[in-house]
Amino acid sequence: MPEPAAPRAPHVVILGAGFGGLQAALSLRHAPVRVTLVDRRNHHLFQPLLYQVATAALSPADIAYPIRSILRHQGNADVILGEAVSVDPDRRELRLVDGVLPYDYLVLAAGATHAYFGHEDWEAEAPGLKNLDDALEIRRRILLAFEAADRETDPARRKALLTFVIVGAGPTGVELAGAIGEISRHVLVDDFRHIDPREARIELLEAGPRILAPFSERSARRAEAALRERGVAVRVSSPVTQVDADGVTVGVNADGRSVGANAGGKPVGGERIAAKTVLWAAGVAASPIAQGLGGTLDRSGRIEVAPDLSIAGHPEIFVIGDLALYKHQDGRPLPGVSPVAIQQGRYAARAILARLQGRTLPPFRYFDKGILAVIGRGSAVADIAGLRLGGLLAWMTWCFVHIFYLIGFRNRFVVMFEWAWAYATYQRGARLITGNIDEYLEKGDPPAGTR
Ligand SMILES: Cc1cc2nc3c(=O)[nH]c(=O)nc-3n(C[C@H](O)[C@H](O)[C@H](O)COP(=O)(O)OP(=O)(O)OC[C@H]3O[C@@H](n4cnc5c(N)ncnc54)[C@H](O)[C@@H]3O)c2cc1C
Repeated sequence: MPEPAAPRAPHVVILGAGFGGLQAALSLRHAPVRVTLVDRRNHHLFQPLLYQVATAALSPADIAYPIRSILRHQGNADVILGEAVSVDPDRRELRLVDGVLPYDYLVLAAGATHAYFGHEDWEAEAPGLKNLDDALEIRRRILLAFEAADRETDPARRKALLTFVIVGAGPTGVELAGAIGEISRHVLVDDFRHIDPREARIELLEAGPRILAPFSERSARRAEAALRERGVAVRVSSPVTQVDADGVTVGVNADGRSVGANAGGKPVGGERIAAKTVLWAAGVAASPIAQGLGGTLDRSGRIEVAPDLSIAGHPEIFVIGDLALYKHQDGRPLPGVSPVAIQQGRYAARAILARLQGRTLPPFRYFDKGILAVIGRGSAVADIAGLRLGGLLAWMTWCFVHIFYLIGFRNRFVVMFEWAWAYATYQRGARLITGNIDEYLEKGDPPAGTR
């Protein structure tokens, strides 16, 4: 058993074992502190590969790793599976649903979740992708849609079953759309007897003027062309104004006028898209945990942090990753991506150690390694150090980067094997429908038009 920390050592409580919190905990392994890492899940999740679980390329265990296993050799670190509800900065306590954790230093790394911009009721019809449960739910919906379409004899209902709408064309939306395109055009083609999966309609809807907003124009254009090759219809300037069980409405103001335009700038009429599968990749909202701390919050609920990542009036509280609004580098907020969280986690740990030693650190500085998005087999875009990469080279860079940062030797090996297999055969090994299929089975008499 590893040597525990001295019982009177300063107590560092870290909320969230995502990219930021885990990195902070690991970076404190040699510090004279007691670390308690709290998360409502027992695993660290590699979110950038979630869409591969959602589209049946990988299994959940390939991209998640138990937090206790990661820290098993770190004697000064303890793990709590628990849900935090608030912070009491005056008493220096993190409050959990079922207890209280006193701290000397607190690192808040609770991340973000999806935002429906005031339309929370859309969530049931258009799930977002944030954790493994979301990914399995999306996988279930996609695979069940093909199953139901195969039994459906009514052409309109079959068309709706074979229509997949993805709302939001940031990296996650692009990745989901590209993957569904490949499933329908390659993976499933020989598996059904009554439908041609290639007839699946995949609509990628973006409210903004172009896809992949954080990327260069050139990369966005490349990605759009690669998506179209995979059968994805890309519509920009097309805000979704309604989501329900039967589909979405695109680009209509309250007065009924169209506000949409296609990639060529041509107006697109307010249009109803009948679709049984709608996926949400349109917005993020920061965890509400920092709301009572009194700092300035931006529109998505991120809390503004000082150059050393602490919050106003509380130098003992650090906020990092997707929950932090850091804009001291060039005035623009840092993006919600994993390298920011990882680097901030490391910095917060160093800042705590420096405080204990009576030193101060220079302000946090983000080292930007570039951005990547994958469209499908052999196709990705990357903006790295002024270079605009595309195609196979970008895809190989993407594969390498993701394997490199995956935690666990087994996971790296399995994922590498799965990708090589999928590349060679176009197969997706995790095509399992799990969870509740009651709705699909439509208890009672099947409706007319169903085989
Ligand atoms: C689908 C998807 C794809 C992405 N793709 C990429 C990509 O390709 N490249 C990239 O760089 N970034 C990508 N990102 C963004 C990246 O994953 C995040 O920026 C990063 O995870 C942020 O790290 P974090 O530590 O701030 O939060 P997270 O990694 O989200 O971790 C937060 C942790 O806090 C826990 N938690 C939250 N609230 C509570 C609570 N109240 N009580 C207890 N525990 C709590 C959660 O369970 C979670 O483990 C993607 C994100 C998603 C969702």
